[in-house]
Amino acid sequence: MKRISHWIDGRLLKGESGLSGVVFDPATGQQQAQVDFASVAEVDRAVAAATQAFGSWRATNLSRRAEIMFNMRELVDANRKELASVLSAEHGKVISDAMGEVARGLENIEFACGVAHLLKGGYSEQASAGVDVYSIRQPLGVVAGITPFNFPAMVPMWMFANALACGNTFVLKPSEKDPSVAMFIAELLMQAGLPSGCFNVIHGDKVAVDRLLEHPDVAAISFVGSTPIAKHIYETGTRNGKRVQALGGAKNHMLVLPDADLDMAADAAVSAAYGSAGERCMAISALIVVDTVADELVDKIVDRIPRIKVGPASDPDSEMGPLITKEHLDKVASYIGGANTQGATVVVDGRNGVPKEGFFLKPSLVDNVQPGMACYDDEIFGPVLSVVRVASYDEGVQIINANPYGNGTAIFTRDGGIARQFQYDINVGMVGVNVPVPVPVSYYSFGGWKASLFGDQHMYGPDGINFYTRTKVVTSRWPDPRTSSVDLGFPQNR
Ligand code: NAD
Repeated sequence: MKRISHWIDGRLLKGESGLSGVVFDPATGQQQAQVDFASVAEVDRAVAAATQAFGSWRATNLSRRAEIMFNMRELVDANRKELASVLSAEHGKVISDAMGEVARGLENIEFACGVAHLLKGGYSEQASAGVDVYSIRQPLGVVAGITPFNFPAMVPMWMFANALACGNTFVLKPSEKDPSVAMFIAELLMQAGLPSGCFNVIHGDKVAVDRLLEHPDVAAISFVGSTPIAKHIYETGTRNGKRVQALGGAKNHMLVLPDADLDMAADAAVSAAYGSAGERCMAISALIVVDTVADELVDKIVDRIPRIKVGPASDPDSEMGPLITKEHLDKVASYIGGANTQGATVVVDGRNGVPKEGFFLKPSLVDNVQPGMACYDDEIFGPVLSVVRVASYDEGVQIINANPYGNGTAIFTRDGGIARQFQYDINVGMVGVNVPVPVPVSYYSFGGWKASLFGDQHMYGPDGINFYTRTKVVTSRWPDPRTSSVDLGFPQNR
């Protein structure tokens, strides 16, 4: 059985805790590897390596740090296919989707190549007589990243690229469900020229995470995962004096108005609800449609669903793979079972006709859903699209704004004025106009509102640079006898 161990101080380290987790092949349902779970002592070892490496990494000049990011950019680019195949073997997503994930992650490494420009401070000459004031950005120290199963390549890239480029050292705790991509990334960073100890990977569960949250030498935590855990991370990390950004779960709505191009809207809803088997934090899971076009839109979606090819990533024709575990599959399927009893209408039941092996569920469509029903209220995180029929734009906006989550949303309309009004009205962090999955490009930042994010800074882009640095302001004067005198008053600069 393949064994996946930790990566500490530039080398592979076999776990000694005696604890481990099972890594499945979701397409067959069989175990394919065992992953070591770190003890507190092993986490401490990784943090010690990162602490040791910090001094010289921080002192490494900006050109060299940028050069290493450039090297990493080239290596990830050259290894796109291999990365995609490693991640799809453990996650189950189809290769085209995995390639897309690597490409979107790579954007963040490209952004970090510009770190020399991004770290520029401000300078004010002659703030007072002979006095200059300037601000500089400095790294925090050791920062940790804790990541979810659904984007095992992209989400770590959201974090480590900017963190390292800014001069921090990094400890990654990837999802224990698909941990191999993190090891691949560690090897590529080493090949790129990153010194040992600057990037470490520890595997594990709550024990490892909680140790990172309380370790005195960890300065900041970036987390992406479900809302209850994000809240725990934020509360515990900040209580321990750390800077924390914790991105949580989602319930993303797509509002379709009567003037929308309904074929475009149907294509978008199907792609955004069922892509990656709905295991995306930006997946559309609630379709809010104005009554007058609801029947027509539902018919168009029903028409498209049978054409989606569900199967293992090893089949190049597959468009949608399995879910991550049997436990998750059962949970997602239970929402379809429960929908009828709560008064909704199951129009397409994805539990029918699934392959016998593996954790497969086909696309499902539930109509006449309303807030208060479990399939609306909960984040299902699977290929289940709920249709909520509304009388008007106003009712649609009111439902979206009343939802506790606020990650992504989209409006489908041909009316520019109403689209502009939507972007103004809606209490959600990322908004699409005729774009169903509005994940920002790497030079903006990614983050939701409300229960989808705990903390002040969004992830990557300019907010990423802010998160991974702290500013210092220097007020400076050089000896000049003409301006030197004793003055016990508070400086007035006039
Ligand atoms: P998860 O919250 O179960 O796990 C995320 C990480 O936290 C993993 O590394 C896991 O090992 C760790 N963890 C799990 N339980 C823990 C505990 N009790 N204490 C400490 N650490 C713990 O999430 P997941 O199932 O891996 O990923 C799916 C979730 O992530 C969904 O809710 C999805 O919406 C969310 N997500 C959000 C975003 C975003 O940007 N907002 C992006 C991707 C995924």
